[in-house]
Amino acid sequence: CGIVGYVGNKASGDSKSIEVLLGGLKRLEYRGYDSAGIAVIDESGHIGTRKRAGKLQVLLDNLADQPLANGMTGIGHTRWATHGGPTDSNAHPHLSADGKLALIHNGIIENFAELRAELEATGATLISETDTEVAALLVGREYDRVTDLTVALRNVVARLEGAFTLLVMHENEPGVVVGARRNSPLVIGLGDGENFLGSDVAAFVEFTRRAVAIGQDQMVTIRPDSVEITDFDGNPVEADEFDIAWDA
Ligand code: GLU
Repeated sequence: CGIVGYVGNKASGDSKSIEVLLGGLKRLEYRGYDSAGIAVIDESGHIGTRKRAGKLQVLLDNLADQPLANGMTGIGHTRWATHGGPTDSNAHPHLSADGKLALIHNGIIENFAELRAELEATGATLISETDTEVAALLVGREYDRVTDLTVALRNVVARLEGAFTLLVMHENEPGVVVGARRNSPLVIGLGDGENFLGSDVAAFVEFTRRAVAIGQDQMVTIRPDSVEITDFDGNPVEADEFDIAWDA
């Protein structure tokens, strides 16, 4: 339902993705949701995930009890369940089989049942009831084949039907978040040595007023100092920047 992504510049020395993600999820609460979760690539390069059914406060309380190691790359999600009830294990992010890739999703993958059957037939074990986990496992497998996160996501979205905004990150590409969208929104927030993604500008308006909308069937790869937009065939797309007018 709500999506936020962040990459910052390690040179600044202060880990801050958790604060950006939780702040973004807080401002996306108005959209309604039943679960919330975040994943962060910590300073040692490992993905840590925390996700809980219930209000954002349940996740905040859990993080206060057992803090997650912070880092400069992360993704956050508020879920409005469509496939599988509102449980901790159905909450996003979802991980690849080796746990090195984390993925969040807004929308519905219409052909998830056949993709799930294909995964199970080739030995995959799914631990949630969501349509989303299918995408996490597929992108994880494709990453192992092509060893490039942007290419891996591009190859998988070509097989997905329905509505999706997807964000992924991988331990092997620690300063990168890749997004893709079809029939579901995704906006870039441009920062200085840091960049943001959101399902709407509320996700990052606290940090920047410079935004770029991503078009239908387009992808984006953000790093601390760069933003690359392409179409689903991999062709570069010219971005149109706009200023966020916001009276909050
Ligand atoms: N279809 C996905 C799920 O049920 C994502 C729902 C959403 O947009 O929050 O987990």
